Amino acid sequence: MNKNIPITAKNKCQFCPGSRCCNYVTQHIDTPRAMDDFDTLLWQVSHQNVTVYRDEDGWFLLFQTTCSHLQDNGQCGIYPQRPQICRNYDNDYCEYDSPAEEGFELYFTNYDELFAYCEKRFKSWHKHLQKNNSTTP
Ligand code: SF4
Ligand code: SF4
Repeated sequence: MNKNIPITAKNKCQFCPGSRCCNYVTQHIDTPRAMDDFDTLLWQVSHQNVTVYRDEDGWFLLFQTTCSHLQDNGQCGIYPQRPQICRNYDNDYCEYDSPAEEGFELYFTNYDELFAYCEKRFKSWHKHLQKNNSTTP
């Protein structure tokens, strides 16, 4: 690709390393409020390639995983039949221009980060853990 070619919305995807928007899945979740909700999130974020974030639209699980239809040349292997969510994605201003993480208000990439947040958020977090330990068979 000639580096002197101006990047426009029309040709941008050809310059995008690895086609960033085809390498993850997000799932909106109910706003976690109770300690048990965060306990569940701790389990989820403990798994490889699973992270948790909050942005202006709420809380989400983020799974870093490549779409099986993404081809080696960066193109979509099912373009005419691609899902609606892919059709709706607008590349006028996308992750090529700015990483999605920049819009996150909270972002937890592992157990330790979320655990530290729980300790700050809940004064009785450690009591909650002790209670759970005492009920574990
Ligand atoms: S829409 Fe944006 S993030 Fe997705 S492949 Fe095109 S340039 Fe990359
Ligand atoms: S179906 Fe096509 S456009 Fe949609 S995520 Fe997969 S490769 Fe990308």
